[in-house]
Amino acid sequence: MKKQYLHLSAYPCDDCAAPVIAGTLAVRENEISKETDIRPVGAICLACGHRQSTATAPARIRHLLPIEWVPAAAIKASELTTAIVEALKRPGLH
Ligand SMILES: [Zn+2]
Repeated sequence: MKKQYLHLSAYPCDDCAAPVIAGTLAVRENEISKETDIRPVGAICLACGHRQSTATAPARIRHLLPIEWVPAAAIKASELTTAIVEALKRPGLH
């Protein structure tokens, strides 16, 4: 069964040395398959808000355990299409 996973990693912020948390989503078609459709979803320093997408050497990246992440119903392709159609029908947005 296809599942989506959230991967979190932590590394020091270049500006203030506090932890930056970076997230990546990936899809696994079944329990033994490799992850596909890997995409970054954002990175931010917990202290200063600096959006640092990669660690700067020699900083070490610490990876947290992946978390199963159920995609929001709104981002399923079919429902997204419906949402766009509904949005286009709304008056005042054209
Ligand atoms: Zn910072």
